[in-house]
Amino acid sequence: MTPDGKGVIPMVCVSVKEGTECIFMTKKGCSFNGGVCHQIVEECRGCNRASEFDSGWYCTACPDPSVKWKNGHCNFATHIAKEVQVEKTKINPLKASKRKGR
Ligand code: SF4
Repeated sequence: MTPDGKGVIPMVCVSVKEGTECIFMTKKGCSFNGGVCHQIVEECRGCNRASEFDSGWYCTACPDPSVKWKNGHCNFATHIAKEVQVEKTKINPLKASKRKGR
């Protein structure tokens, strides 16, 4: 019987993010490209998903943060979500005045 009672054996990192559960961990070790996670990049500073481990600063959501920033903003980032939301809530003043006239 497994610890969760569902037949799923949690795989825990034994390399750079030691002790954290990871989907890339297998019985044979880390299956991620290169065999270890990569440290966060400059753009990650301020993100709540960046965590400090004994081996350095790593993302808890992505094994290679530089890839997440390669083509624009990281979609998991918590520190830029507010800026995006502000842009979405901007109201077109012309449409707003029409709505008031109804
Ligand atoms: S979620 Fe994105 S921005 Fe945040 S630490 Fe991870 S890669 Fe960096």
